[in-house]
Order: sequence, then C-alpha cells, then structure tokens
Amino acid sequence: MADREQVRQALAGVAMPDGRGSLAESGALSEIVIHQGKAYFSITVPAAQVAGAEPLRKAAEAAARAVPGITSALVTLTAEAPPKPAAAAPAKPAQPGPGGQAKVQVAGIRHIIAVASGKGGVGKSTTACNLALGFAAQGLRVGVLDADIYGPSMPKLFAIHGRPTLKEGRTLNPMQGYGIKVMSIGFLVDEEAAMIWRGPMVISAIQQMLREVDWGDLDILVVDMPPGTGDAQLTMAQNVPLAGAVIVSTPQDLALIDARRGVAMFRKVEVPILGIIENMSYFIAPDTGKRYDIFGNGGARAEAERQGVPFLGEIPLTMSIREKSDAGTPVVVSEPDSPHAVAYRGIAAKVWDILEGGATQRPAPRIVFDA
Ligand code: ADP
Repeated sequence: MADREQVRQALAGVAMPDGRGSLAESGALSEIVIHQGKAYFSITVPAAQVAGAEPLRKAAEAAARAVPGITSALVTLTAEAPPKPAAAAPAKPAQPGPGGQAKVQVAGIRHIIAVASGKGGVGKSTTACNLALGFAAQGLRVGVLDADIYGPSMPKLFAIHGRPTLKEGRTLNPMQGYGIKVMSIGFLVDEEAAMIWRGPMVISAIQQMLREVDWGDLDILVVDMPPGTGDAQLTMAQNVPLAGAVIVSTPQDLALIDARRGVAMFRKVEVPILGIIENMSYFIAPDTGKRYDIFGNGGARAEAERQGVPFLGEIPLTMSIREKSDAGTPVVVSEPDSPHAVAYRGIAAKVWDILEGGATQRPAPRIVFDA
C-alpha cells in the first residue's frame, strides 16, 4: 500500500518552474489524500500563472502515478488569490471575484446557481433536488452538482448507484437520474474519505466536478453547497461562476440568523441573491390535510423583505417529502400533483424568471458582517 510520504517523496523530484526548488518543498502542495490507490492533491499557483502551470500539474500527476501502489492521480491547480482585494487588477468582464480573478465560465452551461443554507439540517439538499426537478418539469436541461462534500446526499435522493465512467482523458460522464445529470463526490469516494477533505482539497474537488465532467449543454446547473458560511463555503462561492444563490431557511429565528449569514456571505463575494425559500414552513397533517403553523409563519418572508431580497416561497413540512426523499423518489416526480410538488415547481419557475429576466438583486448597501 502506498502512503502519503511515498507520494511526497516522488513529488520532491518535480521541479517548480520558477526555480523555487521541488514541488514537495515549495509550499504550493496541498495535503495529499490517498484513497483506494488513487492520490488526490492540489497545487496552489499565483492566479496569473494558472494557464502556464499545466506542465507542472501533468508532471506531478505522472510522478504520483509512478509510485508503486498508486493506480491513478487527480491533481488540480488552485489559483492563489492576490493578498489584498483592494489592490485587485481591473475586473475582466466575466463575473470578477473580489480578488479581481475573473471566474471562468463553463462552456455549454447557461446558468449556475447555488442552493445554500446558513446551517445543516434545514432541508437544503432536499430543496436543491426538488428544485432541479422543478426546472426539468419546465422542459429545461438540468444538472446537479453535489458540492456538499461533507455529507453528499444526491446519490440517495436520486437513487443513483455505481460510479461514473471515464469519457476520455480526465473527463467523467455524469450520472443520470430522472432525466437530470448528476455529479457528486459521493459517487467517487466513500463517505469517510469525503469527511477528511479540507480546504484546498475541497475546492479542487468542486472544480473537478465542475470542469472535468462532461455536462454537455445545460440550461441550468444547480449546486448543492456545503451547509454553513465558513471559509470553505466562501472560497467556493468565489471560485464557481455563480449566476446567483438561493438561500434555504426554516422559520425558526436561529435559522434566520444563519440565513442572514448566508446572504451576507454571497454579498461579500458579489454573487446575486436570487431569494430565500422557507422550508418546513408549516405542517400538513397527512390524515386530514389540515395546515398547522407550528413555528409561526412568515418569518422568512419578513426577513427577505427586510434584506431586500425576493421571497421565493414556502415548502410545507410533510411526511411524504421525507419519506419520498429517503426512498430516492423525490416528490416532484413521485407526487407531481401534491401541493408541495406544486410549491417546488412554482419556486423553480420564479427562479428561472429572475435568471432570464436579469431581475436579480445586485448587492445593495454594503453590510459589514462577522461571519
Ligand atoms: P440539509 O441538506 O439542509 O442538511 P436535508 O435536505 O438533508 O437537509 O434534510 C434534512 C432532513 O429533513 C431529511 O431527512 C429530509 O428528508 C427532511 N426534510 C427536508 N425538507 C423537508 C420537508 N419540507 N418536510 C419534511 N421533511 C423534510
């Protein structure tokens, strides 16, 4: 069995292009992860040198692959943000990040949106999945990128098993579920392995799922973000060319505080907020169909108004949403006439209108926020 030290030693034989010594000593090398004979790591290079660093990436990959016991290597280049955002170079036309780095669009994909939440367990993944199916119900070509690297749930929600096949070179074919193209780290590594991924590794994994998957032509790619508003989420929001973000919140106050952090995070990186969705908004009794506003209702709507972002709609707390999600038959496909499926489709239609109409909320007043 190959270990990380052996891979590290192999990388000591790869020279940095600028005479900074070997890759292993340059400080540009991320943590090395080995899983089932496959080595994963990233190399951080200055943003301006990413294009020229491809030979370095290739050499590193070859060196890692040459280690006995390593069957393949996935090496990604991570751009190093300039130290001071204020000193950023003039923005390029394509969605400049705060570091002045233009985010490279993904050819063939019309809009990429993030589904995010301030904390876990609010139903972000369930919403992302049903929203994606809502877009597909409008006849749109849809993909889902499961970036919730700490707890990928798309394989289960779409009931997809198996591993993606390699197309050619480094490109993977996405998996398919209910007519939607799906890629998740859950298809590639076991859950325990996903858990140990940190920092730059997370970013490289996302970049690979975005750029080294044959998405083909898509109207919309829905990215299920990792929950929370920490550094990993912020960096992701900075690195993916997002047309906008949807924030999922539950009605309780605490979740709303978290949702506010989510809004603030996207504003910080100048990603338009498409709106807030209130999930588990009210309860529908399965026997009588009667509605109960357990948490009090309207908190997310009021919060959205206060923040000047669109309120996209409410999703009820229902047994069937949970049951159908667990069974891998999400309600938009399995109960298309139910009020909750109608709610998801309505929200999808609203989001699409905003994206196509360009009526997104550009970051308004600058709010300083301790995330
Ligand atoms: P997150 O991605 O925010 O961690 P999930 O989408 O995994 O949350 O949802 C957490 C749990 O709540 C899951 O068991 C899911 O089936 C359930 N759930 C999500 N939304 C609803 C809803 N509207 N009604 C009932 N259960 C829901």
